[in-house]
Amino acid sequence: MKPGLYSDVEGRFQVLLEESALTRALTLACASGQNETGGVLVGRYEDGGAVAVVEEVTGSPRGSIFSGVTFHRAAGNLRAKLLRRWSSKRHYLGEWHFHPGHSPDPSGRDTSTMARIAADKRYSCREPLLLILGQSPAGEPRLSLHVFPLGEAIAPLRAR
Ligand SMILES: [Zn+2]
Repeated sequence: MKPGLYSDVEGRFQVLLEESALTRALTLACASGQNETGGVLVGRYEDGGAVAVVEEVTGSPRGSIFSGVTFHRAAGNLRAKLLRRWSSKRHYLGEWHFHPGHSPDPSGRDTSTMARIAADKRYSCREPLLLILGQSPAGEPRLSLHVFPLGEAIAPLRAR
């Protein structure tokens, strides 16, 4: 559980998780207690698109449903917000959420949601990221980071 550079085994997908973004996600997860929460990852691409830099995580839009079991992010004004950010060279990079009391492994539902986003032209993101915060059985914070390239297998990213 640390900020910094993450990549897949081959080094094809590289993600720089900025400390302020990780700290914000942890703060939001902590504030949600035993409920799931989440939002989107926003940032920029560097090195001609080779590295995705996660600069910011957003909280939940109004209207999101919280429970200990699942999290449904309300569409809210997300799209308008994203378009404003794109215009200032900032991009939608993917999603994040919290698995209270559970491992940060993506669920089957997480995987199908991300595949849908990769294929959805409105997101303009063919390689969306999923950051999940979870907890060990002893309650210690854990994270996972995966990329979901359109038409390819999900790839886990590890701290390098
Ligand atoms: Zn999940």
